[in-house]
Amino acid sequence: MTCFFSALVRRLAWVFAALALVSGASAQAATGYTQTRYPVVLVHGLFGFDSFLGVDYFYGVPSALRQDGARVFVAQVSAANSTEVRGEQLLAQVKNILAITGASKVNLIGHSHGGPTIRYVAGVAPQLVASVTSIGGVNKGSRVADILRGVVPPGSLSETLANNAAKAFVALINLGSGGTSLPQMPTAALDSLTTSRTLAFNQRFPQGLPTGCGSGAELVNGVRYYSWTGTQPVTNLLDVSDGALGVLSLVFGEANDGLVSACSSRLGTHLGDYRQNHLDEVNQVVGLHDWFSVDPVTLYRQHANRLKQAGL
Ligand code: CA
Repeated sequence: MTCFFSALVRRLAWVFAALALVSGASAQAATGYTQTRYPVVLVHGLFGFDSFLGVDYFYGVPSALRQDGARVFVAQVSAANSTEVRGEQLLAQVKNILAITGASKVNLIGHSHGGPTIRYVAGVAPQLVASVTSIGGVNKGSRVADILRGVVPPGSLSETLANNAAKAFVALINLGSGGTSLPQMPTAALDSLTTSRTLAFNQRFPQGLPTGCGSGAELVNGVRYYSWTGTQPVTNLLDVSDGALGVLSLVFGEANDGLVSACSSRLGTHLGDYRQNHLDEVNQVVGLHDWFSVDPVTLYRQHANRLKQAGL
């Protein structure tokens, strides 16, 4: 028993030492680590998770970035609509943000459908955009959207698998919207996310897209392009969304985050594949991610610092 208590005391001492280190790190906050030159605008993905289960979509991200100096705005575009409609809404908000702050450009960071949405704005108004960062972005379509829109070639997947995927997706939508009944399936949004429609969109807005599965051009029309994504559909069994993402991941047959393939996410300089699923990428649900991997919020902080270092 003595040995047990002695080990316990040592463990507690280690925990307190670690807490002291964390506390020390906090004390160094507001040193400007995330103090980008231009305001950061966070743009949410499909199905209106601007507020997910009553909390921020980018869970803990705005405060973490603001803490060390960034000016952060959270855009609110249509919960589910076409990329072009969402893009026009975002463009108007960007102009408002520029007017409010007096800044000449913004740093756009978009998740999921937010990826194509911010690419649209950078495509039509590159002079207003310092950088475009796509996280788990649906830049070359989503197989899940293909299935839901019934455009997957017959026989390419078992019907059971497709049905299960659709059901899991619906469960995820309900979870995210906090509703007890499923909202109308937003076909315009889903259409935008199908592979065929995305490829058509890409012909109009090819900036930063790689031809293969690596990095694309980083600097196009004065705009810097970056991306990262998750490639681990199931990461935390305490997170009720992991089951759905795990089921959805089965339809891909390649590395994916449960909703988007790794290759589809690529844009500009590829910053990494992480042990995250599609919701971990925005630190959901409420911070439940792979605890043995990098904290999703840390990636946002590091990226803000990257933008700062690049003078953006
Ligand atoms: Ca999660």
